[in-house]
Parts: sequence; C-alpha cells; structure tokens
Amino acid sequence: MEVEAMEIALVFWAESQPTGQLQELKSYGLRACQFGIPSEFDCTTSADVWKKAFESEGVYVTSAVCAFAGEDYANLEQVHKTVGFTAPGFAGARIDRTKQVSVFASALGLTALSCHIGFIPDDCESPLYTELLTIARELCDVCASHGQAFVLETGQESAPTLLRFLNDVQRPNIKVNFDPANMVLYGSGDPLQALALLQEHVLSVHCKDGLPPSYAGKLGQEVALGEGKVDFPGFLALLKQMNYRGLLAIEREEPNAVKRAEDIRLGIERLLAWKKSVL
Ligand code: MG
Repeated sequence: MEVEAMEIALVFWAESQPTGQLQELKSYGLRACQFGIPSEFDCTTSADVWKKAFESEGVYVTSAVCAFAGEDYANLEQVHKTVGFTAPGFAGARIDRTKQVSVFASALGLTALSCHIGFIPDDCESPLYTELLTIARELCDVCASHGQAFVLETGQESAPTLLRFLNDVQRPNIKVNFDPANMVLYGSGDPLQALALLQEHVLSVHCKDGLPPSYAGKLGQEVALGEGKVDFPGFLALLKQMNYRGLLAIEREEPNAVKRAEDIRLGIERLLAWKKSVL
C-alpha cells in the first residue's frame, strides 16, 4: 500500500486489541499512522494480531514509536531525571526494551523505530555525551540488523547540538523525527530554523503545536494545531521545498479523550487548509 507524500496521519498508542483503534483512525478519514508502543505493551505475543489488523483495515504504518516505563514529562527537572537514556538508572532496561520493540516492529515489517533518547549535552567533551553516542550506535546497529532506521525525536536540545550528535554517531541509519512543537515546549530554538539545519536527516515529522514555558524550569503547554507558536504554513512550505516525502503525523497528547478527538479533527481540517494554501 502506498500513501501520498505529506499525507496526514496520526500517532496513536497501541492497546491490546487493534480493531477499535484502527476504526477510530479511519473515523478521522485517515489511513496512515505511526504506531506508538507503550512501555506496558506485550511485544512478545501481539505482532501477528496487529499485522493482520493493519492489513485487513488497509492502514499504512511507517514506524514504531517507543516509550519507556518511568518517563515523567511533568516539568523540566522531571524530564531531565526520567526521560531517555541519560536518566540515571534507566539506560540498561531501556536499551533492552528498545531492542525488543525493534524485533516486534520488524515482525510488522516496519522500517523505522523512534524514541526520545534524552537531553543531548551541548558539551561534546562530557562523559554523558560519549555515553549517549555509544548507546545510539548500539541501537542503530540493532535496528540496522532489522532493516530499520533508528530515529531521534527532536526538541530537547538545540538543533546545532543534535546535528553534531547525528554526525558523531556515524551510522547511516540514524535519522530524525522532527517535532516542531518540542522546540517551543522546551525553549530549544526556532522550529523552522531547526528544520532547515537538520533537513537532510529528517525521515518523518510530527504535527504538534505548543506554547512556550511561562518561566524557566517549566515546560511549555501542548495545544491544538494552530493555537500555538508553530508557523504551520511556513513549516509545510519548508517541507515541500525540502522535497519531503513522508507523512504529516498529528501527535496530540491530551488526556481527555473527547477533547483529544476534537483537537485531532480540528488539526486535520487546518492541515488540509494549510496544505491547500501552501503546496
Ligand atoms: Mg513528538
């Protein structure tokens, strides 16, 4: 099954039974997704069920999104303490989990696996930077053995820091999932300048919007597409200029299911209008 370049899609998080979730995806008029794998999801038994469901529902999946037990996005300090491979005490279990998800994604025929690796230090001489390089190379090699790209979510560090890291990893299958809202939420710089800088490494993008932190140490607030600081017409125009061929994957982490569905519908409507005006 083929999808169009810059086709609108959704990031959703797997539950145990696929049918309802895939029908929800289709109720938005969508047929493509990034497949989020929650930490509690049992990767050892579900691949067959999901593979059949994607095929029978005609849903196209580009990548697996890997989340980990213990991640806490409540504020900046908690993100530093708990997210990614830089969080003290979490690296070993998360490396193992990523390998497990890579095997699962491979059984589904997926060619990319993404996650937050944690804050990449600006100081490339620091031990943490070196440790992250080693972990990234190990996971790139595992993914490569399954025919997959290992894909980093953007935004917890500045684009120049991420660019240096990508080059230092020295693996052809290290890629970027560019999330413009994260740049705003973490105060990591201008999203469009960041995309321009990282463009040759961008495999996929999230369509998410956000407002900047109101004071230092706080995280910004995620909002519906068009309600935040991301310049989406500019974002789409730059993607087009880059000849980006991937999906526009809407990501909405809103705990209230009704509000989430409303925001997804609004996001789709606005993306369609922006695409029309820009492309
Ligand atoms: Mg994202």
